[in-house]
Amino acid sequence: MTLSEQLFDKAKNYIPGGVNSPVRAFRAVGGSPIFIKSAKGAYLYDEDGNTYIELINSWGPMILGHAHELVEKAVSDAIQKGFSFGAPTRREVEMAELICSIVPSVEKVRMVNSGTEATMSALRVARGYTGRDKMIKFEGNYHGHGDSFLIAAGSGAMTFGEPDSPGVTKGVANDTLTAPYNDLAAVQALVDANKGQIACIILEPVVGNMGLVKPVEGFLEGLRKICDEEGIVLIFDEVMTGFRLAKGGFQERCGVIPDMTTMGKIIGGGMPVGAYGGKKEIMDVVSPAGPVYQAGTLSGNPIAMAAGQAMLTHLSENPSVYTRLEEIGTTLTNGMKANMEKIGLNYTLNHVGSMFTLFFTDKPVNNFEDAKTSDTALFGRYFQAMLKRGIYLAPSQYEAMFLSTALTDEHIQTILDANLESLKEVV
Ligand SMILES: *Cc1c(COP(=O)(O)O)cnc(C)c1O
Repeated sequence: MTLSEQLFDKAKNYIPGGVNSPVRAFRAVGGSPIFIKSAKGAYLYDEDGNTYIELINSWGPMILGHAHELVEKAVSDAIQKGFSFGAPTRREVEMAELICSIVPSVEKVRMVNSGTEATMSALRVARGYTGRDKMIKFEGNYHGHGDSFLIAAGSGAMTFGEPDSPGVTKGVANDTLTAPYNDLAAVQALVDANKGQIACIILEPVVGNMGLVKPVEGFLEGLRKICDEEGIVLIFDEVMTGFRLAKGGFQERCGVIPDMTTMGKIIGGGMPVGAYGGKKEIMDVVSPAGPVYQAGTLSGNPIAMAAGQAMLTHLSENPSVYTRLEEIGTTLTNGMKANMEKIGLNYTLNHVGSMFTLFFTDKPVNNFEDAKTSDTALFGRYFQAMLKRGIYLAPSQYEAMFLSTALTDEHIQTILDANLESLKEVV
């Protein structure tokens, strides 16, 4: 047994399923999870002494690679000055000012401790602001584990949602409506059937959580128009895409500006941080400025803010980060396409900037139904074949890969060689 296997066996005695977040258990790809000992730059090092090239980067935050000196230094400086005060600090003001200057839709912002907290709070604020109860979300989008988001579409587009997890009540499900991604007509139908009752529409402007799926031409613009016509708050969940697909998130790239934005992952530079923000008049309903309650003992924590501030400052001052990420993304995905052509495969490769997914299906993937046509067993074999060759992918077909600036041209070639060999081995 490897040390990772031994640790996993032990973990299962004390932690549900042996992990603190389900995807880490490798259920979707088989085998036993790799336990990580340390990481630096483009590499992960496991308990058994193996080295891997990273294509997840902690699900996005490590956009500059692991243990980047800038963030390391900011954190070690902050640690000298105390861990938590539960009182305001200068850094929180600077961080808020920085976020407002970077993210187009954000005029005021509140810091929280995770993406889940950000979306839960944004939903409450949208409801408090509009005085309405219902929400529209999209199949295959993920917004953390808040009750209101763990709702599947009911049978037939007009029906109420169904709880997607035991423990979520039917009462909560009644207020969550679900539409297929990229389907404006379905959204319009839900809005028409629930006139004056929809508080917000929330979506990932580029989806990372069913594998990478892009908005089709006109989809985001169409949602903006519906929201304007009906007084609905448009929320972009940019927990994954924020500070990644452009400095100011995908909204900067596509030019469609939501009313509210939720952020996480990169914003903490690897520390547990989230944030939600938006138009002044909406954010001013948040307590103590307004009546909508939301709070946090460790929110705006000085160590976490130091990491986040170092990260965001670097990103905002170095546009070359994004040029390089585009370059890496294009080289890698073009190389993978060339590999597939070489051996006569025609799988769908979706790609935006530094995020991509290879779907094991020939069908174009524009929504969750399309994504589900993928051969997930084949993906599992591909995942193991890549792991064996020292490439660490996200352990599920329904995830995106996240690139970092720590990847060199040599790394990219190594990944492409492994990709070709792995495809030949498993298909
Ligand atoms: C990761 C993620 C979340 C949840 O963030 P946590 O920090 O895991 O709670 C919410 N929305 C999106 C789009 C995400 O990718």
